[in-house]
Amino acid sequence: AIMVAMSLATISEVYGELQRASGSAERLFELLAVESKIQAPQQLMQLDDLTETVIVFDQVDFSYPSRPNSPALKGINLDIKKGQVVALVGPSGAGKTTLFELLQRFYDPFKGEIRFKNAPIHQLDPGFLRQQMGMVQQQPIMFSSDVWHNIRYGRPEASDEEVIWAAKRAHAHEFILELPEGYKSYLGEQGVRLSGGQKQRIALARAILKDPDVLLLDEATSALDAESESHVQAALNELMKNRTTLIIAHRLSTVIHADMIVLLDKGKILACGTHVQLMKKSELYQRLCELQFEPYEAERTQRVNGVK
Ligand code: ADP
Ligand code: MG
Repeated sequence: AIMVAMSLATISEVYGELQRASGSAERLFELLAVESKIQAPQQLMQLDDLTETVIVFDQVDFSYPSRPNSPALKGINLDIKKGQVVALVGPSGAGKTTLFELLQRFYDPFKGEIRFKNAPIHQLDPGFLRQQMGMVQQQPIMFSSDVWHNIRYGRPEASDEEVIWAAKRAHAHEFILELPEGYKSYLGEQGVRLSGGQKQRIALARAILKDPDVLLLDEATSALDAESESHVQAALNELMKNRTTLIIAHRLSTVIHADMIVLLDKGKILACGTHVQLMKKSELYQRLCELQFEPYEAERTQRVNGVK
């Protein structure tokens, strides 16, 4: 009941912050210090809903306030079209997560501009902006509440039927029914223990219910059990259908299917293109494919075959 009384913008903001906070304590403290500086503008701008260009990064430079002399992003130019699937790849520390944070306006760039549907995002209400974007994290947070509430977080006014519809599309409905109290089962720290794949499917149901224009995915690095894996993939495919999607990608299979791959290193875009193009022109990309993606794929294949 309390949730329903809160405004949508507030909920999406709290949700975003909780999601971010799960990253690390350091990031949470940084966020608390910075959040107050991010303000809704006096003059709000309208979105251009007919545009084919959904997201633009225009010469964006950014440094975290605590490290003003080591830029986290430098000269970022990106042009993302409606319905595209864009994979962000690069070594740890390259700036992938930072790019997601700027896009949701948890920080403002020091230089340059980010536009969403032709509106500079600093001229949009941050709560409204975040309502247009759905974020699914590697390790989704389960709130200390029942399954109903955990999925409904995506859209607080949704009916029970809509929650069940989203759970079905996320391939979560069947395992939810098998929980001790079905949809009334309590999750979170004191609640029933879910596997990694089950938590992801709850998070995907939330995102399906929210139905955002833009999907931000931080792909899981850790292997799921084989059954969860195929269900999560099916749910993801469902969610990405007809939606502009940015994925921080850790798997070769995801990268290969992307419309555009953005290779980041030390805060800069080193190369953009398809898998075939990057394999030809980037040594770092080749190395990432060998070192980062393949060991994981090999490990998974072994596990599926019962080798371990
Ligand atoms: P990636 O997601 O590609 O691994 P990040 O976007 O997390 O990279 O980090 C980019 C750079 O910014 C790194 O050098 C990282 O140490 C730094 N960084 C990330 N978060 C913070 C923070 N809250 N405060 C200061 N520096 C940060
Ligand atoms: Mg990251």
